[in-house]
Amino acid sequence: MIVVLKHGVSEEKMAQLIAWLKALGLRIHISNGEFQTVLGLVGDTSTVDMDLVESLDIVESVKRVTEPFKMSSRKFHPESSVISVGDVRIGAGNFVMIAGPCSVESEEQIVTVAKAVKAAGATLLRGGAFKPRTSPYDFPGLKAQGLELLKVARQETGLPFVTELMNINDLPLFEDVDVIQIGARNMQNFDLLRELGHTDKPILLKRGLANTLKELLMSAEYIMASGNEQVMLCERGIRTFSDYTRNTLDLSAVPMLHELSHLPVIVDPSHATGIARLVPPMALAATAGGADGLIIEVHNDPIHALCDGAQSLRPEEFSDLADKVRAIRGVVG
Ligand code: PEP
Ligand code: MN
Repeated sequence: MIVVLKHGVSEEKMAQLIAWLKALGLRIHISNGEFQTVLGLVGDTSTVDMDLVESLDIVESVKRVTEPFKMSSRKFHPESSVISVGDVRIGAGNFVMIAGPCSVESEEQIVTVAKAVKAAGATLLRGGAFKPRTSPYDFPGLKAQGLELLKVARQETGLPFVTELMNINDLPLFEDVDVIQIGARNMQNFDLLRELGHTDKPILLKRGLANTLKELLMSAEYIMASGNEQVMLCERGIRTFSDYTRNTLDLSAVPMLHELSHLPVIVDPSHATGIARLVPPMALAATAGGADGLIIEVHNDPIHALCDGAQSLRPEEFSDLADKVRAIRGVVG
């Protein structure tokens, strides 16, 4: 249930109302917007007399929220959220370009790519240290050593980085990571999501291979309900019967998620297509469609990449794309 307060309500009256609602056993989520204050009521709202609340002189309206997601819902938080990563702001008109290799392979590789993507205008570095691989025989990532190399690349370039966490047990190693990525395969690892709610790190939550938008938002809800509201959603392509691409980029997810939720939406055209030459057109389409950012795989030597070389752009290709993205942002931003 949401309670929209009248403009200019005194702090004291608002505090009284909140105390009363809390006494009914509810958790109250306050969204202080520029024009409206919205109280989101979480818990068993069947005990709340809607008519009574609506009759209060400080209340403008009361609505039941029928969606199962609450804290991630735009109804609870009408203004778009902004996630801050160091000096980088994401959401509500702030666009981010995240780029880097699929996997961290060596110091030279990650530092070279980090420098190149920074020069092209990326403001966040990506790089997997713990890799979810379909085959147990494939390169699983450099793990803890990979995280150390990402820190070296950050030191060299000043770029904060995003990297994937697969297992709760590894969380202590992620203390000095800037953004934790939860990959498609772990989108519904509910224990992991709950645990992330107890961290203070921004989370990049990727949509599962065969998950609906509602399920994605419910997964965001797990993190938020456990205490961490810094969640970014990522559309990375879903499984369909389309044959010549790795996945199908569900671009309509971008405006639909914006409608449903206040959380930033990032698009990953690399995993969505699996083919480097398709990455630029899909990245541009996502930008035009209102994405709050892109996450793109870039490798200095794609042919010899240990993971996802076929979908990785060369630094000069990324630089060319970044120019075009900026041009499109100039029109739609
Ligand atoms: C990745 O970003 O490296 C990755 C494995 O992505 P996804 O979880 O979307 O497959
Ligand atoms: Mn990859």
